[in-house]
Amino acid sequence: MTVEVLNSGVLVLNSLWQVVDVCSVKRAVCLLYLSHAQVVLKEGGSLYTFGFEDWKDFSQDYSSDSQIIRTITYKLRIPRIILLFIYDKIPPRKVRFTRRNVYKRDGSRCQYCGKKFKSEDLNLDHVIPVSRGGKDSWYNVVCSCVPCNLRKGDKSLVEVGMSLVRKPTRPNWRSFVKCNFSEINEENWKDFLDLAYWNVELEEDKE
Ligand SMILES: [Zn+2]
Repeated sequence: MTVEVLNSGVLVLNSLWQVVDVCSVKRAVCLLYLSHAQVVLKEGGSLYTFGFEDWKDFSQDYSSDSQIIRTITYKLRIPRIILLFIYDKIPPRKVRFTRRNVYKRDGSRCQYCGKKFKSEDLNLDHVIPVSRGGKDSWYNVVCSCVPCNLRKGDKSLVEVGMSLVRKPTRPNWRSFVKCNFSEINEENWKDFLDLAYWNVELEEDKE
């Protein structure tokens, strides 16, 4: 088991079985341990829920090492979907405007040269510089590598003869959540994503 596994995504459902978030395995286990959530497991077309102790017992016979967290006294199968007891609000319709989410939207690619970089080698850049009235918003902030950032400086795109790989916009919540966990376990999450589709998509489109 690696640190990446602990940081990989777990689908979070509220008590109405609506998709509300994707959290790390670490956080999911924490919520489970504190009895704020149950594990949801889909097997043979049926859905099962487990509290922490039940999940612990269930995990003892599980053999896939890559999907197991080991503690000194027991092992725990990594949950992939959790169901919250306490959160029953309507799912968030907007992706929060945060550094992390801008990086995710842009796929860690510099939006000027189009190359992919490690997070630490990217900056956030205002397409219209703040000094010229550019806003802090999804529509004006993009990922930029250091060389492009320096080249652009405080000028407009036209002035420096640069262009954007893609026009920045607010990500659609559903597609955003989906792309975050497309790399793992798509099958098991699919049912809930489809549910999310029926629950949130129309409201998203109004923006
Ligand atoms: Zn660049």
